[in-house]
Amino acid sequence: MSVIDLRSDTVTQPTAGMREAMLNAELGDDVYGEDPTVNRLEQYLAAELGFAAGLFVPTGTMSNLLGLMAHCERGDEYIVGQQAHTYKYEGGGAAVLGSIQPQPLDMEDDGSLDLARVAAAIKQDDFHFARTRLLALENTMQGKVLPQAYLAAARELTRQHGLALHLDGARLYNAAVKLGVAAREITQHFDSVSVCLSKGLGAPVGSVLCGSAALIGKARRLRKMVGGGMRQAGVLAAAGLYALEHQVARLAQDHAHAERLAAGLKQLGFDVEPVQTNMVYVQVGERAAALKAFCAERGIKLTAAPRLRMVTHLDVATGEIDRVVEAFAAFNKL
Ligand SMILES: *Cc1c(COP(=O)(O)O)cnc(C)c1O
Repeated sequence: MSVIDLRSDTVTQPTAGMREAMLNAELGDDVYGEDPTVNRLEQYLAAELGFAAGLFVPTGTMSNLLGLMAHCERGDEYIVGQQAHTYKYEGGGAAVLGSIQPQPLDMEDDGSLDLARVAAAIKQDDFHFARTRLLALENTMQGKVLPQAYLAAARELTRQHGLALHLDGARLYNAAVKLGVAAREITQHFDSVSVCLSKGLGAPVGSVLCGSAALIGKARRLRKMVGGGMRQAGVLAAAGLYALEHQVARLAQDHAHAERLAAGLKQLGFDVEPVQTNMVYVQVGERAAALKAFCAERGIKLTAAPRLRMVTHLDVATGEIDRVVEAFAAFNKL
């Protein structure tokens, strides 16, 4: 019986083609700027997303941190959603390491921040206040795709107020595939973007920060400072390049699997939120821990949360989705 791991799309194993690309990668010392594969990855993604430069880093957390620190100085402020990864799930790094004050705002149901409330949160130029410098958005946000018109409006607002606009695009390609647009149609609105290679794209490690040459130059210095200067990192960058060249279009399959899972659970009477990409949210209430244990016995790994998140990815096959629905059906009959 295969193990089905729906806890996250970070759990994927490198595919055979990816392992081969890693094995054959040309390498050098990337701190000297001499790793040809890292350089290729950075240039490839920057060009694809419409930026002058890119920077390969070990994690999305570091990528976001360097982006925020490159935009904001000590005593500056960034506006961000209460549930956003940079604010809630990165150990408070922007505040701890960057002395950047977050101004969190409640989020709308579609994953956006209401722009009138963003505008109201921007502080006047007054020595009592931190200097509001940046708005950070996340796309996808809990599996939801931010509307393109919203991004254009956010760009316009930040332009009017002289703010920079950063995208935590950990799952940028899920959004692009869902919308059926090139990823740069999304990133065109932003001054910087962080992309995770190790989520649905299936690489074992790595994220890339993209932005202007000046911004990335600053981020490169900061990367060294926080210990993210890696040496023969091309062995990892090769996996990222392979993912970008071969494993983007297939994200549509993950989205279809999430739809299939949601439909199956709905039919069983579960309260399932509408699915857009590769995440299914279902209310399981106080049965969460029992459900997790029940599924674990059947080779299905879940987290235990009343609002349970299940994430599809390249190591989950169609038949396995059906196995999960069957397990929920059996659990329901207890
Ligand atoms: C996973 C994730 C990150 C951070 O990535 P790590 O590589 O785990 O540090 C940032 N933002 C979002 C939305 C994520 O899902």
